[in-house]
Amino acid sequence: MFATSPVQQMLFEQRRIFVKRDDLLHPDFSGNKARKFYHFLSRDYSHITHLVGSGSAQANSLYSMSVLAKQRGWQFDYYVSHLSDFIIKHPSGNYAAAIANGANIIDVSQLKQATQYQQMHLDDVVKQIVKFSYTQPSSLLHIPEGGRCEYAESGLAILAKEIIDWIQLNNISELKVFLPSGTGTTAAYLNKQLMQQLACNDVIRLNLEVITCSTVGGDDYLTTQFALLVDEDYFPTVVNDGRKYHFGKLTRRCFDMWKSVNESGIEFELLYDPVGFLVLKDYLVKHLDWQGDIMYLHQGGLLGNQTMLPRYQRKFSK
Ligand SMILES: *Cc1c(COP(=O)(O)O)cnc(C)c1O
Repeated sequence: MFATSPVQQMLFEQRRIFVKRDDLLHPDFSGNKARKFYHFLSRDYSHITHLVGSGSAQANSLYSMSVLAKQRGWQFDYYVSHLSDFIIKHPSGNYAAAIANGANIIDVSQLKQATQYQQMHLDDVVKQIVKFSYTQPSSLLHIPEGGRCEYAESGLAILAKEIIDWIQLNNISELKVFLPSGTGTTAAYLNKQLMQQLACNDVIRLNLEVITCSTVGGDDYLTTQFALLVDEDYFPTVVNDGRKYHFGKLTRRCFDMWKSVNESGIEFELLYDPVGFLVLKDYLVKHLDWQGDIMYLHQGGLLGNQTMLPRYQRKFSK
């Protein structure tokens, strides 16, 4: 369904790192979400007529789900806890593209049950709505926020296989795979699949570690997420640089890091990658003796830059 995504080299902090270009996986899917939604693309879902999702109005998953729904001819309802006046007046990025694909974006705070929903987590609100507001549950598919569900594993098994093939082809013996996390679904399943597939491989002798960092709620949040998905044996390594990052917060450090990595000629995205590279930089400084190879997973999401970059420019380019 997808071609193997290429691996390229770039210079980062005076060292060569490999970049796995999942951003090039498919023009219409945000790379990471193409892996996570692979299950829904590859299976027969002809009994479904309606897709329900939820999350932020800027989310890469909003866009990718809208593509999925459009391809399959499904109606698509996407619930957000809040829609800003700005984005309604100036639609851009994932939000604008999703609307163009026919997404029906619903602001929960504007529903008549809004007061009842106020204290609830969006995921729980949507569970209630799914239970009571749709008449034909058997034809409805509900994907939890960020694609955090067991269905994500089959697409990440393919990513793991691509990485193992590349390792074999290039005679890599020591590798650290680094990726920034949101829900941690990608990191957890990728690590599990790499470990399981390598255990069945007699050819490769490899010292491998999957390392990730939180862009959302700190290390404990991430470990809690892992525990919902995989056994503790499969937890990836979580590292931090001593700072707490708030998702989507615009900081000069993040913007500067983004500009600096883009000088490699590869465009990165503005929500996860700046934090990823800041933490990777700190990690490299702390592990100067590490002589093995490093692979950074580029998880796509570039469409979101259409929204994030103007926001950054308004804030910092004076
Ligand atoms: C969704 C997304 C992530 C986070 O993936 P998780 O599986 O939720 O950790 C990271 N980077 C990009 C570009 C994404 O779209």
